[in-house]
Amino acid sequence: MSEISVLLPDGSPRQLPQGSTIADLASSIGSRLVKAAVAGTINGVEADLGEQLPAGSTVSIITADSQAGRHVLRHSTAHVLAQAVVQLFPGAHYSIGPAIEDGFYYDFELVGGATFSDDDLASIESRMRDIMKSNQPFIRSEVSADAALAIFANQPYKREIIERVRSGAGDGSDSAEVGDSQTISLYRNTDDFVDLCRGPHVPTTSRLGHFSLMKVAGAYWRGNEKGPMLQRIYGTAWESDTALKEHLHRLEEAAKRDHRRLANELDLLSFPQELGAGLAVWHPKGAIVRKLMEDYSRQRHLDGDYQFVYTPHVANGNLFSKSGHLEYYADGMYPPMEMDNGTYYMKPMNCPMHSLIYNARQRSYRELPLRLFELGNVYRYERAGTLHGLMRIRGFTQDDSHIYCTPDQLVDEITSLLDFILSVLRRFGFTDFEFNLSTRDPEKSVGTDEIWEKATAALREALDRHGLQYGVKEKDAAFYGPKIDIDIRDAIGRKWQLSTIQADFNNPERFELEYVGPDGARHRPIMLHRALFGSIERFFGVLLEHYAGAFPTWLAPVQVSVLPVAAAHEQYAVNVVKQLKAAGFRVELSAADDQLGKRIRNAKIQKIPYVLVVGDTDVENATVGVNPRGGDVERDVAVSEFIARLRGEVAEGELGDNP
Ligand SMILES: [Zn+2]
Ligand SMILES: [Zn+2]
Repeated sequence: MSEISVLLPDGSPRQLPQGSTIADLASSIGSRLVKAAVAGTINGVEADLGEQLPAGSTVSIITADSQAGRHVLRHSTAHVLAQAVVQLFPGAHYSIGPAIEDGFYYDFELVGGATFSDDDLASIESRMRDIMKSNQPFIRSEVSADAALAIFANQPYKREIIERVRSGAGDGSDSAEVGDSQTISLYRNTDDFVDLCRGPHVPTTSRLGHFSLMKVAGAYWRGNEKGPMLQRIYGTAWESDTALKEHLHRLEEAAKRDHRRLANELDLLSFPQELGAGLAVWHPKGAIVRKLMEDYSRQRHLDGDYQFVYTPHVANGNLFSKSGHLEYYADGMYPPMEMDNGTYYMKPMNCPMHSLIYNARQRSYRELPLRLFELGNVYRYERAGTLHGLMRIRGFTQDDSHIYCTPDQLVDEITSLLDFILSVLRRFGFTDFEFNLSTRDPEKSVGTDEIWEKATAALREALDRHGLQYGVKEKDAAFYGPKIDIDIRDAIGRKWQLSTIQADFNNPERFELEYVGPDGARHRPIMLHRALFGSIERFFGVLLEHYAGAFPTWLAPVQVSVLPVAAAHEQYAVNVVKQLKAAGFRVELSAADDQLGKRIRNAKIQKIPYVLVVGDTDVENATVGVNPRGGDVERDVAVSEFIARLRGEVAEGELGDNP
């Protein structure tokens, strides 16, 4: 038999009999790989394990525990979901079923507009397990659009997708279903279930099984609120039961930490309906935490040679025409207001106003870098369906800075910015960071090659100087400049994108910003946009979830609660409260109206860092019983000793450890 040679990802050649498939390659490498393989790539294009290898191609194996592998598992499981629904609900229409982060979904329309119940989910899941056990192959075929239309004669959503692709009107979601070419690819299995799909899939349904259906939700076809409402079933699928269990555990943890729930339980803030969607009011206990965050931020910015500015919430549309927001960002803005023969807008960003301040007078190179800072309130229109507590909100406060510097100052400025950002984030308890550099897409960008190269090199060099590992997102930069994104991982391993350092070559052009250089000539500065928390609201939400409501002592709304054992100890308790307040702490008295046990429990529910219980011997000896959150009770601690300890703990929180 004649042989072919293919290349592995590391460039090494491998000889295989002609006609070998990706699966054959996997088994020629090792039996463990065969078990782990779910698909492969041929010359960079994903393909089924059964795909034959062309001679000379470069081949890689996709294993179940990789991102791409999980995608294949999830997507294949979505097919089985549709298959089960069609079997259990005759006449059901199935539309699209993509893999998403951590899972998959599939959208259905049931006969007569019926909806799924929780019981239905259980029976669908059990039917899916039957289909998986029956070990049906996923068989790929390619047909013409006409043939596909005939196959899906009773499936209007599939027909719409096929028509769109045929007419060239298809978008990304369509091509995920069928591929980009004019031929339509299908996957069929032995129960005669067929679906449009680009693939790849696992070879047979028995490769699936570590999955769970999660919930049902309404979803508009193509997200169009005027279109039909479909029933979306969400599920999750993983490479092993362990991975599935870990994921479900993470979800449970996340639900316990949901900031909307904690905000309510701890009386921090609320989203009253009368106020309107996506807007919050801060209650005293939330507001004090926020004030502490803002005070800390302000102090650090003062220390970092930032200059504070204030700008209004509303501006004339001319400003947003000049900045380009009306051209490129109008969808994200509140609708306009007409007054005094002018059109006004709530500001979606602070940048244009900061550039007005820069331009208020002539600038010299001696003033650069000029760092303007504002806790600036911005308003953005987010679709109602996408709002999520503090994480996605329509009015928020950015800790926003715009730095104007010369091209030669970029590396040093970004290097010190990285220090600054990391040191502030560490104070709030985050230690696990991820960095990503987004580079130019030459197809859509403004600015010269030279300035892009210089700025991108500056961002790289700053990351390298810190010895930081970072990912590169090729061609992911905004059209106006490259950027570094900083993500953090929280206490349960979730990733949050917080800080951004974004270079901008466009705004200085639009606003004709200049400085007089040492040569006496006029030059254009580079602008850096830098948000550290991102928004105060979202950062507060992330902190709340990270700490599950148990803020570190320096941030806790109430740091100490003093509990007299009985009414007789109340006067002494009041005295202890006074001493603690005089020492600068946030203290409350929990009077002896209720049972002591109940009051201690309440203080714990409120996640107060220290509960001080005072009884007879404490009154005599000027001591307290210290009951720390999550720690052991310690009796007979002198009040002065407790104050000294608390001072130490809070100061540590405020100063933190410098990177
Ligand atoms: Zn598929
Ligand atoms: Zn900006």
